Amino acid sequence: MQKTAADLKRRGRKVGFVPTMGALHTGHMSLVEQSKKQNDITVVSIFVNPTQFGQNDDLAKYPRPFAKDKVLLEKADVDYLFYPTAEQIYPDGFKTYVSVRGLSEILEGKTRPGHFDGVATVVLKLFEITKPTNVYFGQKDFQQCAVVKKMISDLNLPVNFNMCPIVRENSGLAMSSRNVYLDEQDREQALGLSTALMKAKALDDSGEKNVNKILSAVKHVIDGYPRVKVDYITIRKASDLSEIKKIDGPAVVLIAAYVGKTRLIDNLLLGYN
Ligand code: AMP
Repeated sequence: MQKTAADLKRRGRKVGFVPTMGALHTGHMSLVEQSKKQNDITVVSIFVNPTQFGQNDDLAKYPRPFAKDKVLLEKADVDYLFYPTAEQIYPDGFKTYVSVRGLSEILEGKTRPGHFDGVATVVLKLFEITKPTNVYFGQKDFQQCAVVKKMISDLNLPVNFNMCPIVRENSGLAMSSRNVYLDEQDREQALGLSTALMKAKALDDSGEKNVNKILSAVKHVIDGYPRVKVDYITIRKASDLSEIKKIDGPAVVLIAAYVGKTRLIDNLLLGYN
């Protein structure tokens, strides 16, 4: 892959890169479509990255429908599928990790220590291998976008970061590979997340600026979904995820919650009026 990518670069071809962990759905494919529109060549990677999973996380049972994924990518006319093994990415004696300090320990990082170091490390390796001009990440993982963007700027990486909007099911549920863990009752309860975010958006649209007021209304909505156990609901400055009391510029409401045993995340941009 690295040789092929270097060759493509030498020939002046513009490469778009979409890193994934597979179990592809319409959300992933929206990133692929965006890449296809803006580049000569689109590379998709499928790699269930062990270093971003914690001890109690779902690495072993993470869905891996590889044959189905391959068909989807072929149908979408993707140029290259890169699917390395864990041993290829992390050979014996692997020692180097990238850590985006300050952004990695908060929110998702609090519940999942080391998660973003694993993400930053593998993403940097994948960029080095695929040599993209443009890279595509989903807003679905907003904090991941913040971490990767900061790494790109801090390390002077020669890639353009593109954040693509969250693709949702008709019900409002954000698409996620982890949704396969949800049974019918869970799915209904999982709507608590997007419904709560919509409440925040409605208040934001009506001109409410007070973060605490918005958050208490959002929590009230969530209370109507008894099987949803909130990890965090917070409104942060969109650019650096710092805490704010008032919405006076681009902001984001972020939520993480367990529905049964499944941990879901979702978010919505605010403050654009
Ligand atoms: P994953 O396979 O979960 O690591 O996701 C690969 C990429 O797809 C990440 O950049 C995600 O943010 C993005 N993604 C996942 N779900 C969605 C979604 N519902 N809408 C848009 N992008 C998504």
